[in-house]
Amino acid sequence: MNNFQKYTTQIRSHIVLVLLLNNILFILDWWMVEKVFKLTGYWFFAALLVVPLLSLTILPWLTTRYLTQPTKLIWQAILHIAPDTANVPAPDTKHISIGKDLVVSLISHVYQLASVADTIAKTAEKEESNLSHDFIASSLPLPLFVLSKDDTVVFANKPAAQYINLEQNDIIGQNFYTIVDMAFTNERTFDAWLKDAKANKAVASQTWERVRLNRQDIEQSMQPQFDLAAYYNQGNPEGFETMVVMFDHTNQYSQDDQAMSFVALAVHELRTPLTLLRGYIEAFQEELEGKVSPEMDDFMKKMAVSAGQLSTFVNTILNVSRIDNNQLELQLHKESWPDILQSAVANLRTRAEVRGITLDLKVDGELPIVGVDRVSITEVLTNLVDNAIKYSGTSNKIVLHSYVTREGLVETTVQDFGVGIPESAIPHLFEKFYRNHRNRAQVGGTGLGLYLAKVIVGAHGGHIWVRAHEGEGSTFGFTVLPYTQVAEQGKNGDNESADIVRSAHGWIKNHSMYRR
Ligand code: ADP
Repeated sequence: MNNFQKYTTQIRSHIVLVLLLNNILFILDWWMVEKVFKLTGYWFFAALLVVPLLSLTILPWLTTRYLTQPTKLIWQAILHIAPDTANVPAPDTKHISIGKDLVVSLISHVYQLASVADTIAKTAEKEESNLSHDFIASSLPLPLFVLSKDDTVVFANKPAAQYINLEQNDIIGQNFYTIVDMAFTNERTFDAWLKDAKANKAVASQTWERVRLNRQDIEQSMQPQFDLAAYYNQGNPEGFETMVVMFDHTNQYSQDDQAMSFVALAVHELRTPLTLLRGYIEAFQEELEGKVSPEMDDFMKKMAVSAGQLSTFVNTILNVSRIDNNQLELQLHKESWPDILQSAVANLRTRAEVRGITLDLKVDGELPIVGVDRVSITEVLTNLVDNAIKYSGTSNKIVLHSYVTREGLVETTVQDFGVGIPESAIPHLFEKFYRNHRNRAQVGGTGLGLYLAKVIVGAHGGHIWVRAHEGEGSTFGFTVLPYTQVAEQGKNGDNESADIVRSAHGWIKNHSMYRR
């Protein structure tokens, strides 16, 4: 018997029961009035009417209440799920006396229908939003990649596919690093940033300038160069954790590179006359020392200083150009660090003096023999001291300090008490062509000195850093390694006298790619 038949049977038996009860009561009433109380006349009829009157008032009320109970509970269930009356409580079906099975089954159908309607509404909403996401992502005229938690590409638009020269279908499902081979100008690579964001942040974003894409089908000098922006959102419900957008600047950046090559070509021609000029100035200084007026002596000094500065400029340009072409090679020898420091400082002291600045050199204790390329590391020192002189403002002291660190490295700091550096500029100082806009107008420069210093120190296995506050001077520091450590790193431990050759390049590969 199905639930509805069960319900009608229950109603039928209920009505039969009520009618039966009513009739029995009426007969009982009649029997009591006539046989027990023996009433007659008006009293007989009045007493006989008591039962029908009572049943006419009580029975309809009781029966209605009883019979409408199922309808009331179903109605309550509908109100409970309706959005406008959601505060109506869910019906309690435990104490239903009639049609329990039918009511329970109907209420459960009502709830099921409501949940289906809800799912349909949500799906429609989601589809609508997915459609607009797809539309935005596909029509973005910039290469866009979306990565999942494990760095798999889950979306790449058409410009992205074209940029890396692959079919859209061949990109989806691939590991990002296997299909996009990027190189950066410093070690704050995309890979390092993403690893840090995953470990420490819920949401993060970052931009990079002058990123290079290594494409097998394009020759080295024509590789695409772009700025990169990335956004990370941990545990994104759609599985889209990282978004990567590329802004192509190949034309602009390769023009810079070409300009650099052209400048390098021109500057190269200055080398021979400059060397001659410096030789003659030195000869004149030696020859004429004490024989000319102090004013003439001062002129000679200034000439020597200017020729020295020109020579630093020429070397910087040529070295940066060599780095660009992967041609800068360093030969690390056993050297005494105090010797190198003293001869660099002797050359630079006159440069400082003509600006009224004194150069102090402090060396703490015994320093181990270091493994360095004397010419290149002197260029690092020269660039740092030159900057300290240029940005000294009205202060008149520069301090060089050398000591052994706790890790056993030889660290050298160059401290000035000049204009200092704003905090916002610090992360960019070692980038190629970066110049702080605040002193760009007052002090000449190329924005290449610190970039070169970083690449050279890096090729030595050392580390360069800066500590500065605006208006309070700056301290630049770098480390070089004792020769024993360099030899160990170069796996040259058996043959201590052999040169160790290192090539210096400005591009830092994404680490993930590096490992492959
Ligand atoms: P530049 O040729 O402009 O000096 P560098 O690469 O040597 O190029 O330095 C980059 C920028 O770093 C400079 O333009 C300057 O703003 C800042 N800088 C470098 N050294 C100092 C310093 N000692 N004090 C203040 N600012 C400095």
